[in-house]
Amino acid sequence: MITIASTPVKTYLSKSKIPGFDYVINPYVGCPHKCVYCYAEYMRKFSGHTEEWGDFLDIKECAVPLRPAQLFRTRVMLSSVTDPYNPYEQQYGLTRRLLQQLIVCQAHVYILTKSTLVLRDLDLFKQFAECEVAFSFSSADDSFRQLAEPGASSVSEKTDALKTLHEAGIRTAVMGAPLFPGISRWKDIITLTRPYVNRYGFDSLNMRPAYQKKVIGFITRHYPQLLPLYSDIFLQEEPTDYWKKLGEEIQSYCQQENIRAEIYFGSSRSYSGN
Ligand code: SF4
Repeated sequence: MITIASTPVKTYLSKSKIPGFDYVINPYVGCPHKCVYCYAEYMRKFSGHTEEWGDFLDIKECAVPLRPAQLFRTRVMLSSVTDPYNPYEQQYGLTRRLLQQLIVCQAHVYILTKSTLVLRDLDLFKQFAECEVAFSFSSADDSFRQLAEPGASSVSEKTDALKTLHEAGIRTAVMGAPLFPGISRWKDIITLTRPYVNRYGFDSLNMRPAYQKKVIGFITRHYPQLLPLYSDIFLQEEPTDYWKKLGEEIQSYCQQENIRAEIYFGSSRSYSGN
């Protein structure tokens, strides 16, 4: 059961700490997609909610419209600590209303989602001078997606949506993230989506202490055979070179195949949510 409420805010805009973007807009606080590794869960503390992450959703309400003078040709990302196309967006339409304002502002927008509800706004994307829609894939295997990202669209639905966007002339990207050691077959993600994707980004599984218990618990329940690997990579005092080697492998493959890809492992561009 999810608790839905509205929350007044002074502005929808946050100054971006993610390189490459000027502003981030998170239309909602909370995210019903309930990904097991969600890095945005720290938002719960700031929002004062006591429910589990995924069991509340605050709809932001701001009386002040976005200002064209402030946003003209700025790079705006939706979203970093929620999914702008969570299932309740269908009903509340806040992301859509914000996009309509961003068109007026002539902002450049970058959408990151795990939901095919994004296709609803295809008519708006076509009105931007600069627009990119990215889907994140932690795996090309939908049985893993069902376990790890229960509220997100399936792998095949996301792939079909990329095709639709690509055929409509919208620039697309795939964020291969987070990559789970021993589970996420990054080459499969590329093979599946390559005909419809302009560029890729890859990011590692983040195992900060706050998320460690949850993620290790998930691996223990569903992939116990991988526990020694996870212990080697994440639980030893001496850091391993696992991510360095993996990053080099991905980079080398993408160069060979002429695929535009960026590796964010350990960088300040690490994705902190969606
Ligand atoms: S990772 Fe993204 S889509 Fe998943 S619960 Fe967190 S904010 Fe939502």
